[in-house]
Amino acid sequence: MMYIHYCKYCQRIHILNGHKNYCPRCKGHLTELKISYMKYVNLDKEERKTLREHCANPKELLLLSASSKKTYEHAKWLQIPASNIENYHSGHYAAYSQ
Ligand SMILES: [Zn+2]
Repeated sequence: MMYIHYCKYCQRIHILNGHKNYCPRCKGHLTELKISYMKYVNLDKEERKTLREHCANPKELLLLSASSKKTYEHAKWLQIPASNIENYHSGHYAAYSQ
């Protein structure tokens, strides 16, 4: 199984086989994201960029992280106010809401 991880040191998203704790690039501590592999691979370039921008914000990263089960229901990154997002199109967000 492939999982989506974010490295805050590289500011990159890494797709890794299994649940990894450390970045293969810089050996920094990774955050595993809640977004599924299938969902991630279906994002287009712009959407991936937007996701990466969310991850760059520590507060939002916390919400996106797979380990924050307690906030799970509130944590969908699509619920982040549109005003925070440049070039926002509601159509993009509909794709994630299920
Ligand atoms: Zn890294």
